[in-house]
Amino acid sequence: MSKNKSYTGVDYFRLISAYLIIAIHTSPLTSVSATGDFIFTRIVARIAVPFFFMTSGFFLISRYSRDNSRLFSFIKKTVFIYLLAIALYVPINLYNGYFKTEPFLPEFIKDIVFDGTLYHLWYLPASITGGAIAWFLVKSSGYKKAFAVTGLLYAAGLFGDSYYGISEMIPVLKNFYTLVFQVCDHTRSGIFFAPVFFVLGGYMSDSGCGAGGKTGHDGKKGLFLPLGFGISFSLMFGEAMTLHTLNLQRHDSMYLFLLPCMYFLFCIILSFQGKRLTRVRTLSLAIYVIHPMVIVAVRLFAKVLHLQELLIENSMAHYLTVCLLSTVAGAMITIFSDNARPKKKKPGAGTDRAYLEVDLNNLEHNLREIRKIMPEGCRLMAVVKAQAYGHGAYETAVHLNKLGVRDYAAATVDEGIELRKYGVAGEILILGYTAINRISELKKYDLTQTLISYEYAGILSKQGIPVKTHIKIDTGMHRLGIPWEETEKVKKIFSMKNIRVCGMFTHLCCADGRTPKDEAFTKEQTDNFYHVVNELKKSGIMLPKLHIQSSYGLLNYPEISGDYVRIGIALYGVLSSAKDETLLQPDLRPVLSLKSRVALVRPVKKGESVGYGRTFTAKRDSRIAIISIGYGDGYPRALSGGRGSVLINGREVPIVGRICMDQLAVDVTDAGDVARGDEAVLIGMEGCGELSAPRVADSAGSISNELLCRMGTRLPVVVKGG
Ligand SMILES: *Cc1c(COP(=O)(O)O)cnc(C)c1O
Repeated sequence: MSKNKSYTGVDYFRLISAYLIIAIHTSPLTSVSATGDFIFTRIVARIAVPFFFMTSGFFLISRYSRDNSRLFSFIKKTVFIYLLAIALYVPINLYNGYFKTEPFLPEFIKDIVFDGTLYHLWYLPASITGGAIAWFLVKSSGYKKAFAVTGLLYAAGLFGDSYYGISEMIPVLKNFYTLVFQVCDHTRSGIFFAPVFFVLGGYMSDSGCGAGGKTGHDGKKGLFLPLGFGISFSLMFGEAMTLHTLNLQRHDSMYLFLLPCMYFLFCIILSFQGKRLTRVRTLSLAIYVIHPMVIVAVRLFAKVLHLQELLIENSMAHYLTVCLLSTVAGAMITIFSDNARPKKKKPGAGTDRAYLEVDLNNLEHNLREIRKIMPEGCRLMAVVKAQAYGHGAYETAVHLNKLGVRDYAAATVDEGIELRKYGVAGEILILGYTAINRISELKKYDLTQTLISYEYAGILSKQGIPVKTHIKIDTGMHRLGIPWEETEKVKKIFSMKNIRVCGMFTHLCCADGRTPKDEAFTKEQTDNFYHVVNELKKSGIMLPKLHIQSSYGLLNYPEISGDYVRIGIALYGVLSSAKDETLLQPDLRPVLSLKSRVALVRPVKKGESVGYGRTFTAKRDSRIAIISIGYGDGYPRALSGGRGSVLINGREVPIVGRICMDQLAVDVTDAGDVARGDEAVLIGMEGCGELSAPRVADSAGSISNELLCRMGTRLPVVVKGG
């Protein structure tokens, strides 16, 4: 399993696609064989543009999108590139006499909206139209209907493209397409061609393709994809050759079998995961935009230098020259745009009063460290309940999603829905109780429900709504779950109507300790769980995914395996208590810092008191700083009266008096220059000082888990790194 997943395959294939598109526009094989060239540029290379649409759809379209902002920023970006490209090609258009066409304005508008002002630029307006159509269809009616509508559009497109010869013979169709072609030159456009690929891309992202799910490691599926691709490509090949031979094609962008072909190809591409290659993305786009310019330049130079024979008439040499020069020019543009891009906004917004700073680099680091110690074949389920332990469900889960984490656990159905609205794809397991009247939301948002008892499973099954579930087994914690002894009941659940059992799990209750007693009880719990598993096996029931471990279990009992480990606190880089010693000690780094500001510094004379109840009286003339954070932000009131401290200027200063709801006081008499607006660190590091979450939690008589998750309400989350 790769440790740091990103869609490297997609990034590389963008580059391959760019070269395929150059091939379409230069016909590299013409000087060898006309049929060969048809096969290469009109069949093989036809996967390039749909691939680009699918990639955009993969990252853009989601049935769970919260508002339209993602679509608008996609459109804004594409319009910007389009305008830039139009401007870039004005000289060539001038040279071609483009601006002299009559009537100019209607043609020009048509080109801007559909066909592009130069032949290849149609792709950009098509992305905008196709993306928007797919977006609204998926969001308003779900994938099934979106596929139905865009599929019909595609079919209509086919009969104006590769199958036009048939339409020509049928008067109704002929009239229809005559009308269509008055508006756009081809049906290969943002209305007929692009939407279905956008929908397909979005579907593959939402259904978790490429996350080890459908493109997983087991051999059967491993062969299934190449086979599927091979078959659908062969069919497309046959289709194209037939249509070509029968002379039915008006244009040759669209084939029926292009759809399955793209599905399988994209699955295969997604399974290549590794580093994120942002520059390759820019490079491929730059090559795409610039290559017609390079074609013109190569022709010009060949003419001037009398190299036509080599650089033009030899189609292969011509193609390679264009590829090479386009890459060089593209690389220059990439470097330039890298430098021109405004550097990431400094965290500034939200830091004026009190805030949580979440370090995504540390989160990524912890993910890597945890994956190193996970048993073979095990997948990480990120536990992001309670605002990801106070770290911000949005900031955390969306970033983990980008890093390839595809399995999440939330505590409540509302938390699950919130994740979907943020666009989190993959499986989301609800660990706790969901009221029966909310079952339809489980289905709507594709959430997986924990079956907390046999009775609950029965009621759920009667609602007539199919739900994905994991059975929870109580092996000794006596909280949720079906008692492990009641194996018959567990078996029955597998045959309940509407209940799809995807997993079965238990929770260890003393894996945080390693005393002989803890070890014995942990072993007992594990044995009890496997007793149920074995009983299921004996009855011939197909085992669902099994999981036992959470953070401490993994750190103390790494030999206990499963299909998942449910990791919460360790992912956030801390232990529950500073006193805990675990068997494995991976290099975990705290993700969260809690910071605030000095609101004012006031002198307090010897004998004067500070705060409610006058619990603090100055023993000397002092300087007291008021910090704008209190228990209303989740900072424990138990840290009042010197039990807690704060870092200012890298120095630890004591909290004095009682902590209020919105502020607290610290004694800064010995802390040098302290002024309004200075940063105060309540959890985290500053200079050589460190106040770790476990230490602060210990002082408050609690554990990091509670301390952190209580801060998930009023405080803004400011992201660092990532
Ligand atoms: C919260 C929770 C976890 C995560 O526990 P950590 O100790 O934070 O890793 C795992 N499983 C269940 C059932 C939980 O409720």
